[in-house]
Amino acid sequence: MANDILVVAEHLGGKLSDITFEMLGKAKDLAQAGGGSAIVALIGADAGMVDELGAADAVVTVAGDGLGDFNPETYNAALGAVVEAKSPRLVMVGYTSMGMDLASTLAVKRDLPHATFCLDVEMGDTITATSQCYGGKINVTTDLGTGPCVVSMLSGAASADAGRAQGTPATESLPAPVTPGKIRFKQLIEPEAGDVDITAQEILVAVGRGIGSKDDIEVAEDLAEELDAAVAGSRPLIDAGWLPKTRQVGKSGLKVSPKLYLALGISGAPEHIEGMKSSATIVAVNSDKHAPIFNVAHYGMAADLFDVCEELTEALQERKG
Ligand SMILES: Cc1cc2nc3c(=O)[nH]c(=O)nc-3n(C[C@H](O)[C@H](O)[C@H](O)COP(=O)(O)OP(=O)(O)OC[C@H]3O[C@@H](n4cnc5c(N)ncnc54)[C@H](O)[C@@H]3O)c2cc1C
Repeated sequence: MANDILVVAEHLGGKLSDITFEMLGKAKDLAQAGGGSAIVALIGADAGMVDELGAADAVVTVAGDGLGDFNPETYNAALGAVVEAKSPRLVMVGYTSMGMDLASTLAVKRDLPHATFCLDVEMGDTITATSQCYGGKINVTTDLGTGPCVVSMLSGAASADAGRAQGTPATESLPAPVTPGKIRFKQLIEPEAGDVDITAQEILVAVGRGIGSKDDIEVAEDLAEELDAAVAGSRPLIDAGWLPKTRQVGKSGLKVSPKLYLALGISGAPEHIEGMKSSATIVAVNSDKHAPIFNVAHYGMAADLFDVCEELTEALQERKG
């Protein structure tokens, strides 16, 4: 069996998703190390998207009736045809709403081992996947055998940059398989915008687990109001439901680069830093003077965040009169 890796491209509204490039970068590394090819399955996309997939060794397109918009039935049939034609050792699919439909169906139909929630995958004599469990509290390594197998990759687990390299992959197109057509695409309903766009803010007051409770976020909101800022948060707060997902900064959240990033009770884990390190000025408040956030902060205070918030809010109120 060749060491080929098949990456299932994901696109919406005519745009390839970041997860495609994240997986492609990883696939390229694995292919280079194992002497195989990084192949992209591009189902139902327009030909222009092939130009964006320069990092791939080959792109296999499948287009035709019923593939214009995502449809689990027709896309699964198309993916099955690509897997049949290419016989990859590893199939990488995004652990996304679309990818969940595809990966599990492919694995069941072809009786392949399948690992979900994957942060990483390695390919040697056997294929091993590292999956995140219990909201990131523990990681589990699964031996998927010698292949073929399927992995569902978490968004943000790898950098997308390597997957955006220039190049001229070989292209091939396969005919769209005829499917019974029981499922029809009707309409794409976009989620309501509604919430603040933290990527567009000049000042962010970001809170971490050090805030202690959902009710205490009010302290940060008061300060944010005085600063004309928005409140953002680290992942544990979003996982706990204390702030909406739209406010999450970091690897699996949003990348922000405001003029001022005020980090309150945030330890400075690499996954958080990834999302805010390009802020023009970073001010950190943490009661632990050894907290890693101080390694990236331009200004730091080893202090209790509640004391700092209170004093700062009062000072700003006084100045406004
Ligand atoms: C694949 C993956 C993706 C991830 N993606 C993200 C992501 O997108 N964003 C993200 O944030 N995390 C992400 N994480 C989680 C990340 O690893 C950390 O667990 C998380 O960032 C920690 O959040 P925190 O700093 O708020 O909490 P903690 O690490 O618990 O830190 C709390 C801090 O508050 C301080 N503190 C406590 N009380 C006070 C007080 N009264 N005043 C001042 N300081 C106080 C403590 O000293 C401590 O430093 C991800 C993890 C994985 C594995």
